[in-house]
Amino acid sequence: MRVRRGALEEVGACVPAKSGKVFVVSTADVWRIHGAAFTAGMEGREFELLEFPGGEERKRFAEVEALAERMVDLGGDRTSLVIAFGGGIVNDLGGFLAAIFMRGIPVVQVPTTLLAQVDAGVGGKTGVNLVSGKNLVGAFHQPVAVLIDPDLLATLPDREYRAGLAEVIKCGIIRDEPLFRLLAERYEAVQKRDPGLVEQSIATSVRIKCEVVSADEKEGGLRKILNFGHTIGHALEAETGYARFLHGEAVALGMRAAVNLSHLTGYLSAEDGVDMLECINLYGPWPSARDLTPEQVFRHVRKDKKTLRGAVHFVLASRIGQTEVVSGIDDRIVLEALGKALA
Ligand code: NAD
Repeated sequence: MRVRRGALEEVGACVPAKSGKVFVVSTADVWRIHGAAFTAGMEGREFELLEFPGGEERKRFAEVEALAERMVDLGGDRTSLVIAFGGGIVNDLGGFLAAIFMRGIPVVQVPTTLLAQVDAGVGGKTGVNLVSGKNLVGAFHQPVAVLIDPDLLATLPDREYRAGLAEVIKCGIIRDEPLFRLLAERYEAVQKRDPGLVEQSIATSVRIKCEVVSADEKEGGLRKILNFGHTIGHALEAETGYARFLHGEAVALGMRAAVNLSHLTGYLSAEDGVDMLECINLYGPWPSARDLTPEQVFRHVRKDKKTLRGAVHFVLASRIGQTEVVSGIDDRIVLEALGKALA
């Protein structure tokens, strides 16, 4: 795992010497902006570029199959290696391709969005969407290396950057009060992408994700805390057909609901709750959800695949940097918390 400004210049060093053909999965926009720097970082190591159109609607089995066919045509075999160079969609799809090609070949993750650098590119979850829902097919496939270059974020659209920050705020809330305070107090510099602060925030978030995942790779226990704000966030995405919110934006609103719920159930002090809501709102404005009713959104919570043996469970904050996983909360309290978050 390398987190360093300019790290792309050493991408070639992430490819083990014994590897056969190298396949780089990327999208046209990322390749147009950063392809030359990537190629320079490979230092003469040959590779085949596999361009994939990108977009949530193309994160599908059919694309994986098409890329696998191309790999075979181009001479790919069990010694091949995939480098996934792009946002979370490329990390998920490229990782899944590597997980199943010839029953599994190594993958190097090179995430290029903030969301992917702190979340999708780290932790080994890979997958694609089905018509019936997002990320319903996939595999755990740990990368042989993850290379995170915060300088790549300079070209990221503002909306994508802020959506990624929601996951960074989450890391502060669930496990790291200094990170949370940094985000709350150095807001303007973080918004302006101060390179040192961005690098520090990414490094801390990645450390937190790695600690949690290494303690619980397959989400039997601790890993659930990474879902803070996600139960409602996923419901918001589903209710709006994945068209209104970026993932991080839905998580921001979901975290507002989780903070309200933490307070309403008596787990969180009013003071910490206000600090959390202020910090989340600082990085908005988040897309409006005022037209949605709590009931509409809650329908999807019941269906959430993370529902534990029928009981909906929530990750609640008990103070800044600490969480509890709680189930059996009265629906009326959840609806109240949701109503306040959507207003
Ligand atoms: P994305 O991959 O669609 O990237 C967003 C957009 O930014 C795309 O158009 C992309 O081409 C462009 N882009 C990427 N890097 C850029 C750069 N440096 N400069 C300019 N443009 C750039 O979206 P995302 O938010 O990165 O990822 C979302 C996906 O990640 C979802 O499918 C989600 O399910 C998945 N995800 C997976 C995990 C996991 O643990 N596996 C965790 C969180 C999210």
